[in-house]
Amino acid sequence: MTTVHRVHNFAAGPAVLPMPVLEEIQRDLIALPGIGMSILEISHRSKTFESILKQADADIRTLGNVPSNYQVLFLQGGASTQFSMVPMNLLAAGSTADYIDTGSWAEKAIKEAKKVGAVSVAATTKADNYARIPAQSELKLTPGAAYVHITSNNTIEGTEWKTLPDVGGAPLVNDTSSDMFSRPIDVARHALIYAGAQKNMGPAGVTVVIIRDDMLQRSAEKKPTLPTMLNYAVHAENTSLYNTPPAFAVYALGLVMKWLIAQGGLAAIVKVNERKAAKLYAEIDRSGFYRGTAHKESRSLMNVTFRLATEELESAFVKEATAAGLDGLKGHRAVGGMRASIYNAFPEAGVDALVSFMKEFERKRG
Ligand SMILES: *Cc1c(COP(=O)(O)O)cnc(C)c1O
Repeated sequence: MTTVHRVHNFAAGPAVLPMPVLEEIQRDLIALPGIGMSILEISHRSKTFESILKQADADIRTLGNVPSNYQVLFLQGGASTQFSMVPMNLLAAGSTADYIDTGSWAEKAIKEAKKVGAVSVAATTKADNYARIPAQSELKLTPGAAYVHITSNNTIEGTEWKTLPDVGGAPLVNDTSSDMFSRPIDVARHALIYAGAQKNMGPAGVTVVIIRDDMLQRSAEKKPTLPTMLNYAVHAENTSLYNTPPAFAVYALGLVMKWLIAQGGLAAIVKVNERKAAKLYAEIDRSGFYRGTAHKESRSLMNVTFRLATEELESAFVKEATAAGLDGLKGHRAVGGMRASIYNAFPEAGVDALVSFMKEFERKRG
């Protein structure tokens, strides 16, 4: 049991972790039970670490119902490195990759892919300040595209795909950094899924990639030319142990996966996430004092973005909220206003506290 004071952490990432996970890390940090060494000290070639890695892999497979023709990789360099690795491994000369531009992170993915090969932007909602997800009818897909890249949840703009787009037979690549395992995910409809862990899966330092075997085959063909560390096939053949993995981050991610399974898995956590988000959006919509920035049908369950009438009111809101123990509510500068990130581990009591604060702030300033 901890007695330290913790605020409600609404940060977009790194973000709040489950309390039982932090307590287990704290309890076992000096020596893993039965091992006599810290996770920070043990060899990544030891039986102990091997079993930690295997268990994290198994728990990801259980949670996501990952079919056996997919491999789970634990990589470094963040989702931002995936912006380059995806085209370097999957985009062959002479073919085109389609990207759907739904926000600042998608834009960055596109910028990196263009350095590698031919890119077509199949749809963009930039003209709408990325406040919505495009409709299926807006997608101009390239026949025979090497892959189609989407961003399932737009962390900065507070929007998310409610259902996956129909991309015909093209391999679907999905940046799920800010909503991975916040709701059920149909892995079998994807060719490659990637997520930086630090939003919804664990601490910073590890990036999860789930890749289908035919994509690994494409990657294997690039072995002679690609830098070894940027080749998916190399990491898959070495079960993510080609070089020293981020052992602590993998360990902590494994504990978060175990916690998530104990919560009842994705079918259970999505109910909690829907309830938390509904409370917040209801308050935003209640009186017109607050204004949600995302179109209603595209609203994210993870990142709730909203504004006030003036920037002065917004800075007063953030300042007073921080003083009241509601931390990290300042929105990204691309959108302005406020953003409440309410990932899996964010407690419902924190959402209730924010809703009360919003009511009180409106009473004083409205
Ligand atoms: C945070 C984020 C990224 C960047 O992640 P890093 O791990 O910092 O590179 C990419 N995509 C999305 C959707 C994100 O939320």
